[in-house]
Amino acid sequence: MLGLTAVAIGAWRGAVWGLVAAAGGVALSLGWTIRWRPGRLRRRGPPPLGLHEVLDLLRQAYGGVGGWGIGAGEGPWEVTAGAEATDERRRRGEALVQLASVDGRLHVVRDPDITYIAVGDFPYAAGLALSGDGQSEVLIDQVAGALRRFVAGMRLAEEQSAVPRARIVAGRVARLVAGAQTLDGMARATVELAEQVTHRGVALVIAAVDSARIVAVSGAADRRLSGVQLSPDSPVARALATGIPVATRGSEDVFGPGVPERRRSERAGTAYPLMDGSLVVGALVLLGPPLGPDAPLLDDLGPLLTDLGPRLAAARAVHDAERRAVVDPLTGLRNRREFERALTVYGPKSSEPATLIYIDLDHFKRLNDTLGHPAGDAALAHVARLLETAVRDGDLVARIGGEEFAVWLPRTQLREGLEVAERIRRSIAEKPLTWSGSAYALTTSCGIASYPDPIGDLLNLTAAADAALYRAKQAGRNRVEKAHSGH
Ligand code: GH3
Ligand code: MG
Ligand code: MG
Repeated sequence: MLGLTAVAIGAWRGAVWGLVAAAGGVALSLGWTIRWRPGRLRRRGPPPLGLHEVLDLLRQAYGGVGGWGIGAGEGPWEVTAGAEATDERRRRGEALVQLASVDGRLHVVRDPDITYIAVGDFPYAAGLALSGDGQSEVLIDQVAGALRRFVAGMRLAEEQSAVPRARIVAGRVARLVAGAQTLDGMARATVELAEQVTHRGVALVIAAVDSARIVAVSGAADRRLSGVQLSPDSPVARALATGIPVATRGSEDVFGPGVPERRRSERAGTAYPLMDGSLVVGALVLLGPPLGPDAPLLDDLGPLLTDLGPRLAAARAVHDAERRAVVDPLTGLRNRREFERALTVYGPKSSEPATLIYIDLDHFKRLNDTLGHPAGDAALAHVARLLETAVRDGDLVARIGGEEFAVWLPRTQLREGLEVAERIRRSIAEKPLTWSGSAYALTTSCGIASYPDPIGDLLNLTAAADAALYRAKQAGRNRVEKAHSGH
């Protein structure tokens, strides 16, 4: 096996050289000794290998069950081997390569029996699925290095090919947008692509009924802009309202007043509306001085804008529907169904610890009775924000009942969980609700239960947290109680 690997890797090196050289107008063939004599190389031997063949050689070299690649103009393609490449594995490999093509990072996923490795360099990516989940770091490094070289070769080959640029741009948009699994992913991919095409900082704005929000900014633009809600007086809002491109004048800020302080060069810009039929769904904002009507850049930008509108509309519709299904509309937290789903997803991986905190507002009826129901609603939203700031990424905060919340902390033992619960209790007690200009103190009671210590069965975790919460109420409220092994 070792001998075969060495030979195959050797062959692959030659092949990639062939590929890189072919892109430069010179072809070297597989297995030949390469002697570099500038200007004197001529093509000899068999034709150079294509991308698929090179990736397949890589796959064989490392005993992989599948390989995937993404180029500039075409969708994800794969090289797979026999029965080991099941549909599930193919979907996973492809998804990982899509992700790498967008975020440009190394991804390693260890599934039972399979290790997936993907490397990206926007908008290119390649990945392999290797048999076995216990692959060594050294091997993973080797494969990642080989994939990186492959992706570099792919970029070189495609960038120097004769495909018209406008077609590449349109193809990239179609593929990236179709490939991105979320609106967020699509937005990120779009701005990076637009930046590559235009060499300008780019932002993508989505229009809602009465507002507009920046959903993604490219690497060359100011990251703080992401998520900013735009004022109706901004040039971008004018482009959204009229459906025609709007450029800044004088020292105007393209995003209007109220955005974070920025470099002067970034205030100027042009907002190009994105249309779905006659409906304006968003805008692509190009930062910097406006482009003249004859700017060659517009040739590349045109297909991008035309293609993007309907795709953005479709992605947003899916996003909104998905969001409605999992989010509580009052607080923006996950809903009870999502919370329950998170618990069941954890089930099969139950070799890891986890902690559950139930949180119930104290004397909430009193607040509703004295200040009214709208104040009660504001208190729930206020508490939701405090809960979100008290936890880390990867933890889940859900509203599971009227004024009841759950915080799910995967891979967390009781000791750390208690710190989080105490932090939550304290922050709510210390930050009163402001309602009609007055402060109203709120307190909460928390019940906490951890798996596997002291609760040995994951299925008993919710009942145990509930029992602990009940004890916190009994003991006088505004406190944290932990579950005992017998609840
Ligand atoms: P305790 O300290 O024992 O928890 O007292 P409590 O008053 O909070 O008692 P309980 O948990 O039984 O009361 C929950 C109250 O929360 C009942 C209901 O009026 C109120 N509530 C539930 N959902 C909402 C909501 O969506 N908005 C508002 N404003 N109030 C709600
Ligand atoms: Mg309650
Ligand atoms: Mg209550």
